[in-house]
Formats: sequence, C-alpha cells, structure tokens
Amino acid sequence: MKSKFRGTPEERFWRKVPKAATDQCWEWDGRRDKDGYGTLRVGPTQVRAHRFSYELHHGPTELLVRHRCNNPPCVNPAHLVPGTHEDNMADRKAAGNYPAKTHCKLGHPYTKDNTSISHDGRRYCRTCRARRSREQRERRARIRTAS
Ligand SMILES: [Zn+2]
Ligand SMILES: [Zn+2]
Repeated sequence: MKSKFRGTPEERFWRKVPKAATDQCWEWDGRRDKDGYGTLRVGPTQVRAHRFSYELHHGPTELLVRHRCNNPPCVNPAHLVPGTHEDNMADRKAAGNYPAKTHCKLGHPYTKDNTSISHDGRRYCRTCRARRSREQRERRARIRTAS
C-alpha cells in the first residue's frame, strides 16, 4: 500500500509552510495539536513542526525549541530559539498568564517543591509554614518549662 503522505518529511514540511517574509511568522498550514503547535508526521512518529523546522535549519538539539514570537503555529526558523522548560515558564510569566507572585512575603520562591495548596485553594509557602509550626512548638515548649 502506498502511503498517502508522499515525499520526504522535508518536502512535506515545505508544502505546509506559507510563503511569507523572513521576518514574519510562518503559520503552519497543516495539522495542529491541542496546544496549537503544528504537527508533522515523520515515519511512525508525530513531531512538532516548529521543532522540525528548527532542526532542519539549525541542526538537532536536545533542548526545547521555543518561539521568540510567542506564536505556537509559527515555524519560521528565525523566530525559534533553543531553551529550557524554565525559560518557557519565565516567558509565560512575562506574558502574564501565570500567577504574578513568584515569591512569598519572605522571598522564598514558589517552586513546585516549596508550594502547597491549602484547603481553600490558596498557595502557601512550605518553608514559611514549616518555620511557623516549629516556632509554635518552641513557644509551647517554653511555656511548659516556665511554668
Ligand atoms: Zn513567528
Ligand atoms: Zn516563605
């Protein structure tokens, strides 16, 4: 049976790339995943089109491929930069769709490990909570030894 997808992945990639100026976003003309990223089938696997584009132009990378233009369907290699998951989070924060507060009142970071959600749905700092309960224990101990 002949594959309905003809040509090399590279040929199929270019077929879905609209002709646009190099400084503009090239919005993927093919399938997109639930996050809005273009997808391209390469052999048995589905890859993200922007990643394919990045590796096609800049060579393979172990890192995430991020959009400088914040436009998920864009596959313009000039808009793609390698980065880490942390960079991505920082971008999202900068874009304002992530809770603005990144540190508690005492400056402990709201990282995954240091953050818990209380029963009323609010975030709290684990470091501070641990310190508060330790202080409470010490206060009670002092009261006991004083009396
Ligand atoms: Zn772009
Ligand atoms: Zn804290």
